[in-house]
Amino acid sequence: MAYRWPAGTIFKRIDLDVEERSCPVCARDMHVCDHRYHHLWTLAGPTQVVNRLVRCPDPMCDSRGQTFSPEAELSISMSRWCMGWDVLCWLGHRRFARHWSVPQLRAELQDTYHIRLSDDAIASYLGRYQTMLAARQQDPERLADDYRDIASLVLTIDGLQPEKGHETLYVVRELMRKRVWFAEPLLSSATPEVRRVIALARQWAERLDKPVGVWMSDKQDAFVQAIGTEFPNTPHRYCQNHFLRDLAKPMLELDSQTKVKMRRKVRGLRTIERRVLEDRRHTAVLEPSPSPGPPQTDETPPIDIPEAAASEACARSDLGAGQTANALDTTAWAVTGAPDVKDEAGEVVLGYCAAVRGILNDDQGGPLHPPGVRMSEALQEVRESLDRNLDAQKGGVQRRC
Ligand SMILES: [Zn+2]
Repeated sequence: MAYRWPAGTIFKRIDLDVEERSCPVCARDMHVCDHRYHHLWTLAGPTQVVNRLVRCPDPMCDSRGQTFSPEAELSISMSRWCMGWDVLCWLGHRRFARHWSVPQLRAELQDTYHIRLSDDAIASYLGRYQTMLAARQQDPERLADDYRDIASLVLTIDGLQPEKGHETLYVVRELMRKRVWFAEPLLSSATPEVRRVIALARQWAERLDKPVGVWMSDKQDAFVQAIGTEFPNTPHRYCQNHFLRDLAKPMLELDSQTKVKMRRKVRGLRTIERRVLEDRRHTAVLEPSPSPGPPQTDETPPIDIPEAAASEACARSDLGAGQTANALDTTAWAVTGAPDVKDEAGEVVLGYCAAVRGILNDDQGGPLHPPGVRMSEALQEVRESLDRNLDAQKGGVQRRC
């Protein structure tokens, strides 16, 4: 559908002429006989391309009736498109390399370039972008050029299901050049269907005239059989990624159970923190009296809790990732809420609590660094740190934690 320009739009005008003004048949100078106007969006704004059309002036010339238009128009846009190549590339790159959504693209075009397009228009142009990209990717000459220096091919096949209930897309990739060769939607994963895809891959390899060194896939029966039939002499290796994933599944389940156990065991952080804060409030109420007075409790005032302990507690905070820092931040707020209270020991206790909470909330890590193992190691470090402090304080203050 033609783009409807708002009334009063001001266009930047580009005039185009044919490169070759002489008639291709009789070599006479051709005359401008008409103009074709093309209005489109470029990143520079609304643009009017004026194509000066020419034809041979000789009524007897064989080219009679033929109109020639400027070739340069195609370097700006396709005829009748409402956007230039610059906008199309901008859209395609952000959609497919950066995964922006269509509404996001529309808003950004409007905000940054004042280009107004509907979601439908953007979706339709993205379709054209994809078609062109696929044609370019599958262009046999380009492909042959890309594979000139490759001695042998490594092919993989895998099924992707974009959404539940959708047909599965079987994707054949080549790993030496890291290229998606092609993808075929199949309604079933039966061997004959899959075999057709594998046969297509064989045709591609034959066209490139390169041997297939190895095939890689998961262990689906259809893959094993089809590859065995179409590539009888090619080794077929199972994909490491699938292997690791299958292996990781029961392992991560056990890891997660361990985490639950550890969390169940390490409890009561809140109670400890509450006690520290209550003590503080209590001290803050009693302190305003100017007389030095006796200590409030029969314990030695915990002023001289060693700096080492404080720094240990802080060091713990480096353990977990972001969560620990957040936990510490929260504590810091709570502490600064009562800035006058000098309670270094309480500070240390709160520091430990924050660190432990951070450790318990840290879910980072995959099958190679299971979160439960990280948690257990970190908790062990906290325990050792506490033991070191207690050893240093032997005979001194009994701390609650
Ligand atoms: Zn002519």
